[in-house]
Amino acid sequence: MTVEVDSQLNTVQEATQKQPVLAAHFMRLVATQRLSHAYLLAGQTGCGKRAVAQMVAMRLFCEHPTETGEPCGTCAECHRILSGDHPDVVMVQPDGQRIKVDQVRYIKDEFAKSPVEGAMKVFIIEGTETLTTSAANGLLKFIEEPVDNRVIFLLTTNKSLILPTIQSRAQVVEFSAIPTPVFAQTLRQQQVSENQIGLVSALTNSETDAMALVADNWVGDLQHELARWYGQLAKQDPMAFVTVQTGLVPLATDRNRQSVVLDALIVLWQTTLRLKYQTATETPAFPELTATMTTVAQSLTQKNLLAILTAALATKKALAGNLNFQTILETLTLNSLNLLAKS
Ligand SMILES: [Zn+2]
Repeated sequence: MTVEVDSQLNTVQEATQKQPVLAAHFMRLVATQRLSHAYLLAGQTGCGKRAVAQMVAMRLFCEHPTETGEPCGTCAECHRILSGDHPDVVMVQPDGQRIKVDQVRYIKDEFAKSPVEGAMKVFIIEGTETLTTSAANGLLKFIEEPVDNRVIFLLTTNKSLILPTIQSRAQVVEFSAIPTPVFAQTLRQQQVSENQIGLVSALTNSETDAMALVADNWVGDLQHELARWYGQLAKQDPMAFVTVQTGLVPLATDRNRQSVVLDALIVLWQTTLRLKYQTATETPAFPELTATMTTVAQSLTQKNLLAILTAALATKKALAGNLNFQTILETLTLNSLNLLAKS
């Protein structure tokens, strides 16, 4: 029982912490009975889409909404919604890679039925982008013809994969990235080490992606190799080329990881630029490098520092253009060494 109460409180908390503006907006819509019949909630994994949709369902059924207009999280109705036991709140998640045919049939059957108890019926469908075109077209019928007491939330991490016909018939709500301090707290709860939190949150805003980055200490190794590379550049030591070859390239095992390495490298130079103008970040991405970075920032002219940052940013374009990863890094190393020598 205690566990249940915890998870219920967490859903409202999750929604209001990750998406304070949207959560408040939806609470107002419910309170003033202006909720639309179909929403497409679009945003990265872990940005609070399900929490917000579930909070709306709770608010619609809650027996004792709070003074601030939020669901209580503790009444029988809230309990049932959160444990997935409410007959009028239909929640569907992809079964494996996609939403299966029988799941689509279940959604349609439920849509055809009147609410069992209350005056409303709520549908929360996750992974909408995994519906086949024919399944999505099948659901379209329900979205096209609004039924008074039905509200459907279609959740997606990739809006571009949703049929335009669905996008045009539902209200599209774009979920923004989670506020940095909230995301940092999430990472802390997931036991991400304190000196990796800055870099991880600079690289992603998705909890799932973050967990993939910290697995097997990959991000720790990346941080270590980049610190070594940067330290060598700072001393104008050509050993930086060796670090590229033996340290950075082996970490970039696929295209996706190559892209992350470049992102981290960009963060490295952005942080240096920030230090030049003394706008320090709360959670530095490379805590151990702060002293070295400050020295580099002071010794480089603004023009040369910007030139290095520009070269770092250009690496992403080079990667997209299918240039060899090692060559991209070596070119950047060479350019950086040249610019640092001019200081
Ligand atoms: Zn309640």
